[in-house]
Amino acid sequence: MTRYVGAIEAGGTKFNCAVVGSDRSIVREVRVATTTPAETLRQVLEFFRASDVAIEALGVSSFGPLELNRRSPQYGFITSTPKLAWRNADLIGPLGELRVPVALDTDVNGSALGEHTFGAAQGLDTFVYYTIGTGIGGGGMVGGRLIHGLTHPEMGHMALPHDRVKDPFAGTCPSHGDCFEGLASGPSLEQRWGINPAQLNPDHQAWKLEAHYIALALTNTIYVLSPQKIILGGGVMDNQFLFPLIRAEIKRLLNGYIQHELVLGELDSFVVPPGLGTHSGIYGSAALAFGVVNAPPS
Ligand code: ZN
Repeated sequence: MTRYVGAIEAGGTKFNCAVVGSDRSIVREVRVATTTPAETLRQVLEFFRASDVAIEALGVSSFGPLELNRRSPQYGFITSTPKLAWRNADLIGPLGELRVPVALDTDVNGSALGEHTFGAAQGLDTFVYYTIGTGIGGGGMVGGRLIHGLTHPEMGHMALPHDRVKDPFAGTCPSHGDCFEGLASGPSLEQRWGINPAQLNPDHQAWKLEAHYIALALTNTIYVLSPQKIILGGGVMDNQFLFPLIRAEIKRLLNGYIQHELVLGELDSFVVPPGLGTHSGIYGSAALAFGVVNAPPS
């Protein structure tokens, strides 16, 4: 018998909501604009209340930073986000009105779980999912468990070598300037080159530099976590021509140091796009919810 859960992919510009079956069916879905917490969550609640199908749990994967410590009075709050209306906003409390268990994780851990359940990371126990778009974030699993810890990983803010002679751009991160996100997000591409990245020709030098920064971050990730695969999603990665540039640059940077066939060859099956396309997040949110009701999706 098919069982149903609610899935919410909470982003800085929109909340994608869906009722998802254990057979992977999407019964109904809606996109709600991210405005104020009160207005956005009111529309989210309306969507789920109007569902004919009863949901057993709700899974939420969200932008952040998030408080994920269940013992904190701020559990389920969005904390120090630059989106001022959402700073210290209670994301999970209002959803209690639906009277079902709620599972919460970061947007990138959600996408990673979606890829692990249905997509490119099936059967793996250690892998990383990055989104490279308006912002940059990374999540994933180590030893079969989603990565948490003190708070949660902030891989998008890792420090990268930055040659200010070759690339004088100071970076866009409000906290760090030239961290990974500051150097390689969509807005940083736009500001550095003064043009919408969608209009940058595939042979423009911008992409070689972009591939260099992404490859530096991925090389660090390989050294730190030894992932079996790295999945790259997000708007910037819709430019499929970046994949071969990034793979070649990683190979150059590793310089033969990691002796494994997956990174000694062309890296075609090591650095890959999401198997679920743009649906990693919504399926991952559903998988979070199925996790709390112990109904593994099939
Ligand atoms: Zn930063």
